[in-house]
Amino acid sequence: LSAPFSLREHLVTIIGADAVRDDAETLAVHSRDKWFASVLPEVAVFPTNTEMVSAVLRFANQEEIPVTARGAGVGYVGGCVPVERGIALSLARMNRIKEVHAADGVAVVEPGVITGVLQAAAREQGMFYPPDPASLNECSIGGNIATNAGGPRCMKYGVTRNYVLGLEVVLASGEVLRTGSRTHKNKTGFDLVGMFVGSEGLLGVVTEATLRLLPLPPARAVISASFPELQQAADAVQRILAAGFLPAALEVADGFTLQAARAHVGKAIVPEGEGHILVEIDGQEASVRSEAAVLAALLREHGALHLEEAFGDEGERLWELRRKFSESLKATGLTKLNEDIVVPRSRLVDLAEFAAGLREKYGYPVACFGHAGDGNIHTNIMAADYDKPQVRERVQQALDELFAQVLAWGGVITGEHGVGLAKKRWWPEATTPVSRGVHAAMKKALDPKGILNPGKFVGPE
Ligand SMILES: Cc1cc2nc3c(=O)[nH]c(=O)nc-3n(C[C@H](O)[C@H](O)[C@H](O)COP(=O)(O)OP(=O)(O)OC[C@H]3O[C@@H](n4cnc5c(N)ncnc54)[C@H](O)[C@@H]3O)c2cc1C
Repeated sequence: LSAPFSLREHLVTIIGADAVRDDAETLAVHSRDKWFASVLPEVAVFPTNTEMVSAVLRFANQEEIPVTARGAGVGYVGGCVPVERGIALSLARMNRIKEVHAADGVAVVEPGVITGVLQAAAREQGMFYPPDPASLNECSIGGNIATNAGGPRCMKYGVTRNYVLGLEVVLASGEVLRTGSRTHKNKTGFDLVGMFVGSEGLLGVVTEATLRLLPLPPARAVISASFPELQQAADAVQRILAAGFLPAALEVADGFTLQAARAHVGKAIVPEGEGHILVEIDGQEASVRSEAAVLAALLREHGALHLEEAFGDEGERLWELRRKFSESLKATGLTKLNEDIVVPRSRLVDLAEFAAGLREKYGYPVACFGHAGDGNIHTNIMAADYDKPQVRERVQQALDELFAQVLAWGGVITGEHGVGLAKKRWWPEATTPVSRGVHAAMKKALDPKGILNPGKFVGPE
């Protein structure tokens, strides 16, 4: 940096004083997300347009200053933690919905738009933006794109990647790349959109997204069913699919999760049994009603202990029960380490049994619940005194075993949260040397000086 000016002063000259902050409170907020790691940036910047992002990156690249993009900061893996300090680049002020075009089935948004806000804007025009991370009232579209976020509806509707048609990305050099289009099909060149989706801020900074919208299904039904054993709940999942249903969501919870919920919200609300599923279907009113009746009969015949159906907004009541699972685990007072592993769908019961084994061996409760339809089961290790180094090390050992088994089954270590810092330890086991080489080559091509989100899973070997 050219003396005697500080980093802050340089940035003020480039993008103006309103967009640059380095007070202690702002730096603390920008040091972390919802995971445990925390590193203070030297300065935080708040651009309001693409030109400002480009100017910051051009300068940072020239001076080799680390830049870590940040959406809403509610990630689960420490992805936006500025490990090598430098500049925290917040996209929070770029939060305009530029367009919702029902006839074209697209929305054009800035990255700081909150996911739930976009969903509501789409709904007003009878349109539907399906990706629904549980954090949707807080997280940003830019963060969803950078982590390829998922949620319960992925079973039928897919993940964020399936809804990104076009992107504007500022590269490390400050150049602005526009790729993709507002059409629903496009095969012009490589799939650069796909390359940036899920790239966790390591390859470029997303400054605009053109998203695919679907027609909003006018009706929906939710069915909650509990079973004596988890095995029956898992069998019910397979039966539903074998009968030709493609539910919008198909969620499962194990006995441990149900017990925690009973302790927290009471037996009256949480149905009896050691396994639970929640099924949502959507479509036209008449077909939803008739499908719901067939599904309910199928689940009763399969031995459901307790079964409840709800139509339209009433379904929220049953989803509320599902949301209580997470809340109940947190209410135990233990630290909840939520691992978003994915196993082949037929391994669901094996996973729960393996989790029970870990519980025995390490003494930490393990709760499994989540998106059974796509095998994405949130496996929560519950630890007391997680701030103690020896506890952390022991939890890491338990996770070593869990991830090794998941990989042996042909599963993956993260289905939706990303690698970030939380999964960095297992990145080598989860990938091949050739795959790591391709990642490194892409990083080098797009960010030769390694200024974008350094210290994460791809960087100098
Ligand atoms: C209670 C709770 C529930 C959750 N449920 C789900 C769930 O169901 N499904 C799910 O997938 N996730 C879930 N998450 C995780 C989290 O909400 C998602 O990962 C979300 O996509 C993060 O968005 P964000 O805006 O907070 O991103 P941040 O945390 O700010 O950033 C995440 C990553 O994206 C990068 N990034 C952010 N914006 C940009 C940009 N514009 N350009 C380039 N890179 C960028 C950052 O550098 C970082 O690597 C949950 C989190 C919480 C706290």
